[in-house]
Amino acid sequence: MTELTVNVAQQWLDGFAAAIAEHKDYLSELDTPIGDGDHGSNMARGLAAVQEAVDGKEFANLKDLFKSVAMALISKVGGASGPLYGTAFLEMAKLGDTDSDLGDLLAAALAGIEKRGGATPGDKTMVDVWTPVVQAVQAGGLKQSDVDAAVNSTEAMVARKGRASYLGERSVGHLDPGSMSSGYLFTALINTGVF
Ligand code: ADP
Ligand code: MG
Ligand code: MG
Repeated sequence: MTELTVNVAQQWLDGFAAAIAEHKDYLSELDTPIGDGDHGSNMARGLAAVQEAVDGKEFANLKDLFKSVAMALISKVGGASGPLYGTAFLEMAKLGDTDSDLGDLLAAALAGIEKRGGATPGDKTMVDVWTPVVQAVQAGGLKQSDVDAAVNSTEAMVARKGRASYLGERSVGHLDPGSMSSGYLFTALINTGVF
């Protein structure tokens, strides 16, 4: 079991916001050939709102923190990814006053993403990163190489959900932008030193 404290969660969110700001243009570039070129700007807008909602504030528990994060993401990211990331944090908020096990929290978040978006592993979506990450965290640890391998695995996939699915076979050979942003989320988690 890996316990997530409010303090570590805030560090995690800070690191994620910084990575999204740094890689905003790259995320939109990834979304250009197989989408509408806005994933970086969507996420940067959302994470700026998250920072405004949580940075430097005190939260009594994970529930309150993650609820604020979810609301900021749902109201500001937009696109397909906004409601999906929002759902992920909302599901973690639901558990967050009784359970601080990172494996349980991330498993609940993934279940919410799958329920909301209907994607399963292999559809070339963020689910292809979240699924192996949850498995690794539940098995006791997550390494950068797990995250990189998961993101890179989306390059060879044919998209079956989201805008990229309109391209069918032509989506092959491109990394999925939402998988890359989820990769930044989990790199930020590793960088907190929680594992
Ligand atoms: P939009 O496609 O509406 O412009 P974004 O560009 O912000 O939204 O986000 C696109 C990303 O959202 C994709 O790269 C993919 O990872 C993710 N995504 C899209 N549809 C789904 C879905 N049904 N389930 C899971 N993830 C999805
Ligand atoms: Mg897009
Ligand atoms: Mg869009």
